[in-house]
Amino acid sequence: MSITPEIENWIIQHKQELIAELQHDPAPEQSEPDAIGRAEAWKPAHEAMINHLMACTACHAPTRRYCEQGLELRRAYHDAHQRVCNDINYEAP
Ligand SMILES: [Zn+2]
Repeated sequence: MSITPEIENWIIQHKQELIAELQHDPAPEQSEPDAIGRAEAWKPAHEAMINHLMACTACHAPTRRYCEQGLELRRAYHDAHQRVCNDINYEAP
């Protein structure tokens, strides 16, 4: 699919909303250097989702409307994110 100037404008205008919606989850603790390394684990899933949301006209993050692929990517991201958070909580003193 080709990105028309219209879509490009939409993305530019809604970029902050998209990013804000994606950052609703609490960020993992990053006090230990080790935790930062593990926090990186969810980034590929996060980027895959962002890339999809930027290109997909069916997905609308600010209203939490997602196409099937968008939902799939969102779930993968949340799962990866959750795992990282659980890991960190587990090992915290
Ligand atoms: Zn989509």
